[in-house]
Amino acid sequence: MELKYAMPTRVVMGKDCVRANGRELAPLGTKALIVTGASSAKACGALDDVIAALAANGQGHQVFDQVPANPGVDCVYLGAEVARKAGCDFVVAIGGGSPMDAAKVMALLAKNPLPKEELFSGNYGNQALPIVAIPTTAGTGSEVTQYAIITNHGAETKSGIATPIFFPKLALLDAKYLESVSKRTMTNTVVDSLSHSIEGIISNRASPVTDALAARGIALVGECLSELGAGTLSADQLGSLMLASTIGGMVIANTGTTGLHAMGYSLTYFKGIDHGRANGLLMTAFLDFVKTSRPDLVKKVLDPLKMSSLSGLAFVIESLLGEKEKITDAELEKFSAKAAASKNIGNCAVPPNQAEILAMFRSVFAEKKAGPGVATARHSVIEFV
Ligand code: NAP
Ligand code: ZN
Repeated sequence: MELKYAMPTRVVMGKDCVRANGRELAPLGTKALIVTGASSAKACGALDDVIAALAANGQGHQVFDQVPANPGVDCVYLGAEVARKAGCDFVVAIGGGSPMDAAKVMALLAKNPLPKEELFSGNYGNQALPIVAIPTTAGTGSEVTQYAIITNHGAETKSGIATPIFFPKLALLDAKYLESVSKRTMTNTVVDSLSHSIEGIISNRASPVTDALAARGIALVGECLSELGAGTLSADQLGSLMLASTIGGMVIANTGTTGLHAMGYSLTYFKGIDHGRANGLLMTAFLDFVKTSRPDLVKKVLDPLKMSSLSGLAFVIESLLGEKEKITDAELEKFSAKAAASKNIGNCAVPPNQAEILAMFRSVFAEKKAGPGVATARHSVIEFV
């Protein structure tokens, strides 16, 4: 057996873990750039916890709280400039994937001010400010990945920057921060985490280690699906979902994401559909495609969910996500071309070609024609069985 697995990020989880483990921040620098979105880091209490931990260590800080959802190039250059001007020598990211990803790129640019046109070049050297990541959503797993996903208007998509220097030195997980997350964001982010573990299993880079992690990540989400839908998650379940998200990150750090994420990026870039929701809308169609040649992989996804068919998963995901957005066939054709050209396709155990991607998109979004005897491109739920 051959296997490669790496996880350089130190992970500490527990209630009040930022204040309880604040000493772990001490060796990382003298002044932190704290990177957040507009309001949630304050609202959930994480910002206060971080500032208190830094103050107890005698470390200074500068807050940059201007990271929007799906951050772009201007945001990360602005944050890096703030870091340099304020003399910050490490970065603490608080938030969902958007602030965590933006903070990683700021940490790079603060050390290595690449011209903007070289941001997606792949040449990043080996230096970035040390990064601490404190997730406040249970979705992306960015706290344990080497990826930053940045909106790239030049390529009309969201582009992944991947470099080992983006692995945070430390991830601090406290599920109490999830208590303020809205039901909609919780649903979308949990579906993203589920997608990461699933995509680990259907990746051609899967290993026994990532399969074991992914099975656990999927099972943890599966145990919470009813309460997620009802909006009645307990504190223990929030802990399970936080853990599942980090596990999903550990998986994709080693397997990459697949064509499912590649397809979702256009839904986010062109239609403004949240990242996790975009993956969820396409999830069972993608698994249905994989099943045609690798039913064993789909079984590995369904077993930890205690489900015996894709129709069960399709039903749960459709109930969670509700009505789908309207997308024209011309748009679907454009999205298919973009997904087919994406690097993520190379990670698929069953790589779809452009026509197969279009067929999957159509199976999800094509309008169902009314009238007897009219053929429809859309799968009914039962066809996924
Ligand atoms: P997000 O864009 O970071 O946040 C979505 C919304 O949730 C924002 O309005 C945010 O408010 C709010 N929010 C966050 N934490 C909250 C809390 N505790 N209480 C209340 N509201 C809260 O969403 P995300 O789904 O976590 O991240 C998505 C991004 O991550 C995408 O850009 C995606 O491409 C990327 N991603 C990265 C990786 C990776 O490995 N790097 C993997 C998957 C996805 P504020 O704006 O006020 O904070
Ligand atoms: Zn994702």
